Amino acid sequence: MKMRRLGNTGIFVTPAGMGVLTVGRTQLALPISEGARVVRHAIEQGIGFFDTAEYYETYPYIRRALDGLAPSFHQSALPRPVIASKSLAAGYEGMRKAIDGCRAALGIDQIDIFLLHEIRQAPDFANRAGAWACLHDAKAKGHVKAIGVSTHHTCAAAEAARAQGMDVLFPLINYQGLGIRKGAAPGTKEEMAEAIRAASARGVGVFTMKAFGGGNLAKDYKKALDYATSLPGAVSVMIGMGREKDVDDAVAYFEGRLGNDFVPDVSRKRMFVDRGDCEGCGACEKRCTSKAIRIGREGIAAIDTAACVLCGYCAPACPTRAIIML
Ligand code: SF4
Ligand code: SF4
Repeated sequence: MKMRRLGNTGIFVTPAGMGVLTVGRTQLALPISEGARVVRHAIEQGIGFFDTAEYYETYPYIRRALDGLAPSFHQSALPRPVIASKSLAAGYEGMRKAIDGCRAALGIDQIDIFLLHEIRQAPDFANRAGAWACLHDAKAKGHVKAIGVSTHHTCAAAEAARAQGMDVLFPLINYQGLGIRKGAAPGTKEEMAEAIRAASARGVGVFTMKAFGGGNLAKDYKKALDYATSLPGAVSVMIGMGREKDVDDAVAYFEGRLGNDFVPDVSRKRMFVDRGDCEGCGACEKRCTSKAIRIGREGIAAIDTAACVLCGYCAPACPTRAIIML
């Protein structure tokens, strides 16, 4: 895959990236060796861009894959993949720990990209000023090469497009606008596309997430990727990949080898609540920004599969691990 320049960051990425969340404990919960094999397969197939996060707890998969490939970096001149990570930290110290933890866990001195994870609206950006200041300091020290934000919110993306020192924007967008927010209300794909265009025009490097709406649009695989790859200003698309077949499908698309009649197998992708384990505490309801999970009349959580974007964020919030994906 041909590398593309990510804004003014000096970083070059492949047009497709692998979202490593999928192999981790909140989604497929693959054993480390198995998840690392998927990461390694992606690297060997030419994917050179990986997204992870402190919250996902997926660093061990990447570390194992990088360790396994280390000799071949020297022997075959495979470029080291670009790694993007992020943290939900609000304050300076929390972000410092997140960055240092990422560097140690991956065995990499300088993380390519580190972001404020999940900025929800413009005031949230201001509320996390301590973490943002830490990102600037980490960049000045050379611990991080480029900094920015990830967001599902159009207003936050627009704010990020204007912010001083913003290197990278990682927004949610897909052809149906699933999961796009604007404060407490739904946002539109047009608003997000405009924020992407504006950010890119200022030299901010933009890569996008949730092209398949967390799996809900996967049946329209080509249509979803055609939209994501046609957005002016968006350089790369992060795609959640949990199996080697997912890697092969994505690479085939980006190399123009995917047949027009291609339909991926998405039958196994479902989040649901094990009613026997649910204690009705409501932690998942608070965690779900898509408002897809509610405590029903029986005092037990239930998931609205039409609204669920399969982000997996609710599962770690559950004290009884009653939320699972199968
Ligand atoms: S219920 Fe909400 S938090 Fe859980 S996977 Fe679905 S969208 Fe994500
Ligand atoms: S967090 Fe877990 S136990 Fe609490 S309501 Fe949600 S599913 Fe039930």
